Amino acid sequence: MATTASKASCENFIGRRRTGGGGGGGGASMAMRRRNNTNNTSSKKKKIIVTRASSLPTSSSATRWEEEFGNEKIFYRTRMTTKIQRQQRSSSHRAGDGVVVRASREEWASREELLEEIERLKAENAELKMLRAQLEDVGTDDKEEEEEEEEDEPTTTAAKTKSKKNTTKKRTVSGGALRTDPKSESEIEWPLPITTEGCPVGEEDKKPFWETRPKNDPDELFSLPDDEEGKTTKKTSRPKKISHVTAELAPLAKVGGLGDVTQGLGRAMKMQGHDVQVILPFYQSLDANEIFDLKHVMDFDVPKGMKWDGENVVSMMKTSAYSGNIGGCDVILLKPHDDMNSNIFKGGAIYGGSYNELEAYLYFSRASLEFLDKSGRDPDVIHVHEWQTCAVPMLYWEEYHGKTSLNKAKIVMTIHNLDNTGECREEEFFATGVDGAKFNVIEKALDERTIGHNPERMCLMKGGVVYSNKVTTVSPTYAKETLDGNGGFMSQILKANQDKFSGILNGIDYQLWNPALDATLPANFAPGNKMTENKKLCKKYLQIGLGLDVDETKPLIVCISRLVPQKGIHLIERAVTQSEKNGNQFVLLGSGHSDGGFKRMANEEFSQANSTNVRLMITYSDALSRLMYAAADFVLVPSMFEPCGLTQMIAMRYGALPIVRSTGGLADTVIDCDSDSENGNGFVFYGADDQSLDECIQRANKTFKDRKKFHELQERVARVDYGWEASGNVYAELYESL
Ligand code: ADP
Repeated sequence: MATTASKASCENFIGRRRTGGGGGGGGASMAMRRRNNTNNTSSKKKKIIVTRASSLPTSSSATRWEEEFGNEKIFYRTRMTTKIQRQQRSSSHRAGDGVVVRASREEWASREELLEEIERLKAENAELKMLRAQLEDVGTDDKEEEEEEEEDEPTTTAAKTKSKKNTTKKRTVSGGALRTDPKSESEIEWPLPITTEGCPVGEEDKKPFWETRPKNDPDELFSLPDDEEGKTTKKTSRPKKISHVTAELAPLAKVGGLGDVTQGLGRAMKMQGHDVQVILPFYQSLDANEIFDLKHVMDFDVPKGMKWDGENVVSMMKTSAYSGNIGGCDVILLKPHDDMNSNIFKGGAIYGGSYNELEAYLYFSRASLEFLDKSGRDPDVIHVHEWQTCAVPMLYWEEYHGKTSLNKAKIVMTIHNLDNTGECREEEFFATGVDGAKFNVIEKALDERTIGHNPERMCLMKGGVVYSNKVTTVSPTYAKETLDGNGGFMSQILKANQDKFSGILNGIDYQLWNPALDATLPANFAPGNKMTENKKLCKKYLQIGLGLDVDETKPLIVCISRLVPQKGIHLIERAVTQSEKNGNQFVLLGSGHSDGGFKRMANEEFSQANSTNVRLMITYSDALSRLMYAAADFVLVPSMFEPCGLTQMIAMRYGALPIVRSTGGLADTVIDCDSDSENGNGFVFYGADDQSLDECIQRANKTFKDRKKFHELQERVARVDYGWEASGNVYAELYESL
């Protein structure tokens, strides 16, 4: 997707092992010495990674060590899966010519065997690289031609919404080498079908199949790609210090698209050469073992207001800051120092834990500003997201700018969803240590709808809009829809602040979502490379695992979604019931406060015993979602409103055609195949009624039956480029304009 110096990648590769996790022992200094000893190699800067068997199952602990063979060193990493008590090993060998090779520990027993294996893998890898280069040449030619045409296009603002056709037509990606390409079906270890409880039939103590799939190796996934792979990232000549403040960051602290976006945008900006930091709550539910290079940075005091004997009292809450890396983003995690005496961010889930969300995010907002001040970072841009962090711009301009070390920062705020805008009473705002009365006035954060009520309340998102220098939302059409009055109360606020408001389409991280290298898939594929054959294998894998009829001729529709009214619950239900009737298969993966009806259906008419065409998985699983995207013929997104939506973009990347209701970002990214045969990349309907959905699915089914056409469409959608490059450039311009 984008670029960075390959030397940096090599060093990251070793450096991560050196500092992350426990048990590295003396590895740090030895690795460092070794790096210095390879001075004759750095000029070549050639990195080859063979990814064979480097993906490991769920890890709860990791140890690293190294061994010496003559003057060469082999780096090992072992992860122990505590539940199944199984050990798997991988090793990394950094050869003297600057080449990095990974091979499975199981594949060799002696040094000679290892070296032989390395030579073989290098040769194999060289061939793969050559093929990839050839494929990319074809892709580049297309891309260059298309980019020439694109020059006169409007920018992505609400006022200058891109035409739907152009958005899709202009940017394409090509495929690459595959991680796993089974030569025959017998090479795949097929799953045992799950029971109602989720475990495999006859193996009640075991995990369901998707949890035993290999995991993507974070070292590969989150290293910045080599120069040769990311050809079009613009390197900045004016690097900025950007600090994001957010409640979510994928993959560890993700509930929905917010986490994906902060990660994808953060990495895109880093690839451009900006200095990006993400500030995140240190939720108790985060697995600290999964955070790379986790280190305590500092403790500092944060003013925290509370009621004491009927009086408002501000005391200091000692707060701890940790640094680390999550999903390729440099992160600062904040939490109260005294864990025992505070509930903040406690509980087993990111949201809905055992803490008061409003109080916790107000404290977090204040703590983020205190950290920025006391750490001396002096950012150029503070980028806040959603209502949870809207107190940051409010407090920044009233309490910090010009009064602390924070003098030059400008604030960008991104609205990912207007569903929750952060209602807050004056006394609740006092959790920040600042009197809410300061903001509870009409020109600041007062929610006009509460005028005359007792008490009159604030809307944090309004405060965020009023106090930010620029406000964005996540697609041009959603920006337009909100200005046209579809954003409820916030529409009038955004209209009044229209001059600083724009819609910038989200992207997806093409390294993170890559069916060619995704380790969770039983067979990988890319456009132009085993797309049809290996997608079929993935479909069969899912059908077997979920106990569905194993039938390639049945169109498989999947839906992966939070189950809340916004997502079109009644239409998802309709698609489920119709699928059983009209010979389709349907798999739902989702959870949320409106999932009750689906739970009932999953236990009754669509239970394992009653249906071999429908499976309703009311849970959250990244691994299962990846298998589903890869297996799917269609991905349904029937949202009532959708600020951007990522699932339709991930679907395309995995060669599945989206079936969407035309709204917000769905309207910006999906073009109906029947209306535009040249550029169509999915199926679109407009109404919110059953008939509109049924007709659209019928059209999709008709296309599915024309196998040649359908496979061509799969190839086409998998080439559509919704990576972060383009949107990253728009954000860079926005930062520059501050
Ligand atoms: P939203 O942010 O409104 O939830 P988006 O389409 O922007 O919707 O992003 C949803 C993201 O969350 C996608 O990456 C999708 O794959 C993921 N997702 C949603 N539900 C689940 C689930 N139950 N299990 C795994 N991933 C999920």
